[in-house]
Amino acid sequence: MLGSIVLFGPPGAGKGTQAEIIVEMTGKPQVSTGDMLRSAVSQGTELGLEAKTYMESGQLVPDQVIIGLIEDRLNEPDASNGVLFDGFPRTIPQAEALAGITEVSGVISIEVPDEDIINRIVGRRMDSETGEIYHVSFKPPPPEVESRLVQRKDDNENTVRSRLDAYHEQTKPLGEWYDNMGILAIVDGTGSIQEVGQSVANAVRSL
Ligand code: ADP
Ligand code: ADP
Repeated sequence: MLGSIVLFGPPGAGKGTQAEIIVEMTGKPQVSTGDMLRSAVSQGTELGLEAKTYMESGQLVPDQVIIGLIEDRLNEPDASNGVLFDGFPRTIPQAEALAGITEVSGVISIEVPDEDIINRIVGRRMDSETGEIYHVSFKPPPPEVESRLVQRKDDNENTVRSRLDAYHEQTKPLGEWYDNMGILAIVDGTGSIQEVGQSVANAVRSL
């Protein structure tokens, strides 16, 4: 049986956007460390207080914090047949810890060059009620949700550059790590949302 799946790629590559199709195809729940951390920050929990400064400056939250969060999440009953990880793992120590707790069947890497990332991130907006992800130009929100749109605090040009640095230094080497294990599927993330969705669906079928 298919174990967990990892959606991999730079910030703003389209991981959250494409997660939906994988959830539909596999029935596995989406586990987004970014969403979990943002919820902790807005609730003002101890974890949130610890994570906030890292997130706002575009740095990665320390591995031990993230690994603890994932261990707890994987103990939930809905995670027993594997999950879809979105934004995790982001460092080799995180991937090593994950290998000790669950089987990863496939890693889908969405590749988008840095020059496209800035535009995607700066134009990203979320529906605060449903969590749906929009983009001011590439996926314009319908008029009825305009009043509920929020922009993430770290979605500004300065922070994006730090996040891209963190990606290149700490996260990108993980792609090669998974490729060496023979479980990496690369998807060109530069087409339209629909085109990328087709490639992601093909990658899931190939697992
Ligand atoms: P991630 O989860 O990887 O950070 P998102 O899925 O939130 O990325 O996408 C980042 C932004 O780019 C969002 O505003 C989203 O609407 C937009 N986006 C996603 N995929 C595409 C695409 N293929 N073409 C253009 N814009 C996209
Ligand atoms: P994006 O994919 O758009 O960069 P995320 O929502 O995945 O955004 O992450 C937002 C921030 O949360 C990151 O910049 C980082 O500070 C923190 N974060 C999320 N996931 C991890 C992780 N696996 N390891 C370390 N930090 C993380």
